[in-house]
Amino acid sequence: MTAQSPLVFNITRSTSLRPQAERDAILANPGFGKHFTDHMVSIDWTIEQGWYDAQVRPYGPLMLDPAASVLHYAQEIFEGLKAYRHADGSVWTFRPEANAARMQRSAHRLALPELPVDLFVESIKQLVSIDAAWVPSAPETSLYLRPFMIANESFLGVRSAQKAAYYVIASPAGAYFAKGVAPVSIWLSTDYARAAVGGTGAAKCGGNYAASLLPQQEAYENGCPQVLFLDPLEGKYLEELGGMNVFLVMKDGTVVTPELSGSILEGVTRASIIELARDRGHQVQERKITIDEWRDGVASGAVAEAFACGTAAVVTPIAALKGRDFIVGDESAPAGELTMSLRQELTDIQYGRLPDRHGWMTRLV
Ligand SMILES: *Cc1c(COP(=O)(O)O)cnc(C)c1O
Repeated sequence: MTAQSPLVFNITRSTSLRPQAERDAILANPGFGKHFTDHMVSIDWTIEQGWYDAQVRPYGPLMLDPAASVLHYAQEIFEGLKAYRHADGSVWTFRPEANAARMQRSAHRLALPELPVDLFVESIKQLVSIDAAWVPSAPETSLYLRPFMIANESFLGVRSAQKAAYYVIASPAGAYFAKGVAPVSIWLSTDYARAAVGGTGAAKCGGNYAASLLPQQEAYENGCPQVLFLDPLEGKYLEELGGMNVFLVMKDGTVVTPELSGSILEGVTRASIIELARDRGHQVQERKITIDEWRDGVASGAVAEAFACGTAAVVTPIAALKGRDFIVGDESAPAGELTMSLRQELTDIQYGRLPDRHGWMTRLV
């Protein structure tokens, strides 16, 4: 492939912008993932041309050939990050280079083309600039950004696609916990694994989510909003939730989280929480954690707190872990102290209420 000059985004403004009153009504109660902004980004790729035709264009349906490979062999990856409005009106995002690098790793695993980090960050800037009015300003609200990539070659043969497209869409997001942060109970899946050894667990791909939906449904039926998966080989070690990483806080202040096993998705929130806890002098261990260690630790008092983390809900306290014939913890337990204080510190950095000492924030508007 020849070296390419940086792509210039071709901008086509929507001629049917949502009226301000309608936008304001949506921003007053956005929910999550239900409403979308006026524009989207698209960039095309072919094996001959590399990345080309970068566009900001009106939000709207995609035209796909019914033989497009993504529809048959699930060659798809995605990312999730947020734009935060600060008190002075400026708009920022959190560690976008980390999401860009992860998308490259996911692309590699799914045999999709790697989008350059600069182009990823620029695509976010372009979309948030044109749709800046869609970034809400109420506490704990944000504009959720969803970059994704699909293989769109019309070919039913089984091999990696020679044509792909990258898109970014954006959706205003309300406070995840509308009535204040509430601890949740999570369901332990023993019948299903999320990912296999040597599989795609470490890649952020739609297929992993498809595999998690049935156990997720089982969790709902048992009164739990999330599922915890165990390692796919022995069914003994904690891995993660369907879309969040998991942490325990021990009585002595040690913070533990499952080590990256190859089938765990490496969260940007996970990495950030590890740094913030270390900054405060907590010992942080990334290691194997058995389900028995959690169960016995709650009984003996050695495990003091549990939480899950990810971009969408930031940090979610876990009150109890439920299975078919057991419950660990107390469903009405309050959120852990360190859990809530790490959550506060992280959101304070993201919303510009604390100095950005790690250089994690990138200004968009
Ligand atoms: C996205 C995701 C996470 C959380 O990652 P963040 O970068 O913190 O949002 C955790 N687990 C899975 C399976 C995910 O897809």
